[in-house]
Amino acid sequence: MVPFTSKGYYSWVMNQRPPDPFTQRIWRNIAIPRCRHFLWLLHHHRLPSAALLHRRNIIESPLCALCGEYEDQHHILLTCPRARRIWRLLNWSSAPHLQSFRDLWDAPELPDADPRMLSAIITAILWNIWKARNSLQFNGCFLDPQQVIRAAITDLQLWSHRVPTGTITAALMEFQNSFVI
Ligand SMILES: [Zn+2]
Repeated sequence: MVPFTSKGYYSWVMNQRPPDPFTQRIWRNIAIPRCRHFLWLLHHHRLPSAALLHRRNIIESPLCALCGEYEDQHHILLTCPRARRIWRLLNWSSAPHLQSFRDLWDAPELPDADPRMLSAIITAILWNIWKARNSLQFNGCFLDPQQVIRAAITDLQLWSHRVPTGTITAALMEFQNSFVI
């Protein structure tokens, strides 16, 4: 029976929805809440890319300020030349060819590790690609791929203190050792 109160109705609606397996990757993740929220925005196609802001009549152009292509979140994070250089340096050659950022979780380049750490590694990379894009867009400051990856590693080191487990540290070391910067 459908409940009468708005609170009861809301929880009834939420219970009717099919489970979303990707939410595990957002919330079972050692990243800080701000970055998990960033992942949630991506999952719901709400990252404020030029394309999204253009669609909402907030800015005039939907094009990437760096390369001139249509700038949706897929472009920012995976296919923009700036992102491609970062993925290449990470030895993660499959990334720019994926259909969705969600496919990163199935990539063969990932270390074999605790799912919370795997999600954190991907979150840290995506988050820092997004921050580098904003740094250029709003401050005119270009961060080279090495700087972006170092920033991602620094984030991961900080986040790893959030959980008292050696497996997290081991995965972080394996990730760091998988490329040379
Ligand atoms: Zn671009």
